Amino acid sequence: MDLLKQRILKEASIVNADVLKVDSLLNHGADPELTLEMGREFARRFAGETITKVITVESSGIPAAFATALAIGVPLVFARRKKTLIGDPDAYCERVPSFTKGIVTDLIVSRQLLGPADSVLFIDDIIANGDAARGLIRIVEQSGARLAGVGIVLEKSFQAGGRTLRELGYRLESLVRIRSLENHVISFEE
Ligand code: 5GP
Repeated sequence: MDLLKQRILKEASIVNADVLKVDSLLNHGADPELTLEMGREFARRFAGETITKVITVESSGIPAAFATALAIGVPLVFARRKKTLIGDPDAYCERVPSFTKGIVTDLIVSRQLLGPADSVLFIDDIIANGDAARGLIRIVEQSGARLAGVGIVLEKSFQAGGRTLRELGYRLESLVRIRSLENHVISFEE
């Protein structure tokens, strides 16, 4: 998605050779028009799949996942990261390491929102090592739902997450793929 590449070049900053700061577009804000276009692009790419729900992880996955759910015309479910007082004690739960926080967090999805009748598209902001994605996929599997595919806004292809999921046989589509952040330069895959 060329428009997104241009915006990343203009607005993102390289923290180090592993981490890109994309606050204005993905992690601390969103451009509504650009986000809606991301949703339309995911809807186009997964047009051949049966999708009953879009699922994501709070918080940075929500804008693009919302836009995708809107474009496809299905509900959105987002995994919570903390148990709340009114949470469901019987919810699906998976513990995953957090790439940016350096801690483990729990992903929690209510059993009322996901079940064997669902065929879900998982959308997320960034994939690095793939821990968040694998945790979410385990929740989808626990629920008996089918995973129709995985859509990622920004894949860092020099880290193993995207490759590992494709090797496991999942259909993964990324809107942009970054092959390197070395030498303070953002290099995209062709
Ligand atoms: P993973 O579980 O694939 O290692 O990391 C995925 C999550 O960590 C993403 O949802 C994203 O929020 C965060 N993350 C991973 N790499 C980066 C990065 O380079 N920059 C930012 N801002 N977040 C990242």
